[in-house]
Parts: sequence; C-alpha cells; structure tokens
Amino acid sequence: MIIVMKPNAKSTEISRILEEVENLGLKYHLSKGKEKTIIGLLAKRSTLSPEHFEVFSGVEEVVRVSKPYKLTCREFHPEKSIIRIDGVNFGEQSIVVMAGPCAVESQEQILESAFIVKEAGAKILRGGAFKPRTSPYSFQGLKEQGLEFLAEAKAQTGLLIVTELISPEHVHLVSQVADILQIGTRNMHNYALLEAVGNCKKPVLLKRGMMATLEEFLMAAEYILSQGNSKVILCERGIRTFEKYTRNTLDIAAVPLLNQLTHLPICVDPSHGTGKRELILPVSRAAVAAGTDSLIVEVHPNPETALSDGGQSLDAKEFTQFMCDLKPIAKAMNRSMG
Ligand code: PEP
Ligand code: MN
Repeated sequence: MIIVMKPNAKSTEISRILEEVENLGLKYHLSKGKEKTIIGLLAKRSTLSPEHFEVFSGVEEVVRVSKPYKLTCREFHPEKSIIRIDGVNFGEQSIVVMAGPCAVESQEQILESAFIVKEAGAKILRGGAFKPRTSPYSFQGLKEQGLEFLAEAKAQTGLLIVTELISPEHVHLVSQVADILQIGTRNMHNYALLEAVGNCKKPVLLKRGMMATLEEFLMAAEYILSQGNSKVILCERGIRTFEKYTRNTLDIAAVPLLNQLTHLPICVDPSHGTGKRELILPVSRAAVAAGTDSLIVEVHPNPETALSDGGQSLDAKEFTQFMCDLKPIAKAMNRSMG
C-alpha cells in the first residue's frame, strides 16, 4: 500500500503518519520526490485497509499495490533512481558504457583492454575473475590474481570496475576491487548470494536469469533491496527461446517494460544477448532507442585468441566505431554517450 501525500503536505503531517505506521509495527519506505512525498508500506496483504490512512491530514490518496516486489516497483518510488559511483551516474541523461573482455586472462590483456575502452569513451571496465562456466573443464578465471590485475588496470586508467562474483564468501574479497558487483544470469536465483550483496553497500549489476520472467527478475532485485541495498542496476542479457541463430533472444521489450515497472536503472548486454559480434551494434541501437540507461559490451584486444566469448567481442577498432555510431541514436533520444 502507498500513501501519496498532497504536494503541499507539511513535514509534521508526514511525521504523524510515520509515527502511526511505526505504532502499527509496519516497515515503510519514504520517497521524497520533487513534487510529492510517497510513503510505501511493507504490510502483509489485506491486514490494513486504505481508509485507515485516508483520514489523516495531508494525505492525497492511499493506493493498494498488488505487485509482490514492493521496494523495486515504480509505485513506491515514482522517480527514476540514480546510482552515483565516483562521478559516473546510472539513470541520468548520459548512457553509461561498461566494456572489456569476458574474462581477465593476463595482466597485459586486461591493461590493453582497459586502455582501448577508455580511449573510446567507456567509463567502466568489465572483466570476469571468477567465471561461472557451463563446463567444469572450461577456463574458470584467474580468481584472486584476476582481481589483482583488475586493480592494476583501475590504478593505471582510473576506470571503474565491474566484475562478477559467484559465491557469498567472496563478497568481501571482490568488493575490495569492484566498484560494481556483477551477479550473472546463472546466479539470479541464488538467494544466499542476493542477500549477501544486499547486506553490503556496493552497487550491484543484476543480470536477468536466462529462464526468468520479468517478475522473477524483479523479485530477485527485491531480495537485494529488502536487505538495505537499493543500488541495483537491472541487466537484460537475453533469454532462452527456440531460436538458434542467436545465443540468446534479447528481450528488447523488457527495456520499456522495466522502465514502467521499476525505478531502478537498466542495462542491456548485446554481447551475451546475441552471441554474435556483428549484431552488437544494431541491437545496441535498439536498446538505446528503447530507453536503456547503460550498456555492457565485450571487447578484447584480439577476439580470435580470447579464452571465452571471442565471437561476441569487439576489437579496438570496432569498439571505437561502435561508440561513434551510437551517438546519433542517443541524441535522437535526448541522451548522450558516456
Ligand atoms: C559475463 O558477463 O561474462 C557473463 C557470464 O554473463 P551472463 O551471466 O549474462 O552469461
Ligand atoms: Mn562472457
């Protein structure tokens, strides 16, 4: 249930309601927008009727929210959330680009990648140190050493770092290097991991499970928010369908839908979303036109030798061109790149 205050509601009227909410033993979420203040109640269904609060002065209306994801839904927080990380803002006018190799392979490889993506205008370096691979025999990442290489790339370029973690025990370790903790598609349903990142302060890039509905995706975000961490970026990275020409089917409609359903910033991953290098630009154009707040793209100095996902990675020249080619689309949407 949400209590929408009148635009001119006094702070004493708001406090009076919060006091009543606390007396009832309920939790709440306060959203002070430019025009209106909204108090979201985390009450179990139908334990309270809207009339209870309608009589309080300063209240404009009381509305039941039937969605199961309360903190994540737009009704609780009508304005878009902006996630600010050291001067890089997700959810504002400019579209944030995160780029880099699928996996950190060596110090040289990640440094070269970092300089390439920085030069082309990306603000954040991606690269997996812990790789959740489908086969136990595939390259599993350089783990702790990979994190050290990422830290060095950050020190040399000033780029922020996004990197995946696959286990709750690694939250502390990965947080020492990462500016954004990535939860991959395979772990979207890993509730222990969701709670663990919810208990820390770091922003989280939450990827959509490859078999997850949007409601399940938003419920996964709710796990993180319910622990007190509201800095979550939702990443559409493609879902499984019967189509075989692409690695996954990128659900472009998820972008405007998520923008309606939630206040959280949105990201699109055209690399995993298609599995094909030549589709990265056209799909990213669509993502920007559909209203994404950010993109995460795989870039490798030499994709042919990549230990993972080379076929869906751009090289230096292609990525530089990619950043230029997206500018007119961003401009047409009243946005800018980077
Ligand atoms: C990745 O970003 O390299 C990755 C493994 O992504 P996903 O979890 O979307 O497959
Ligand atoms: Mn990858």
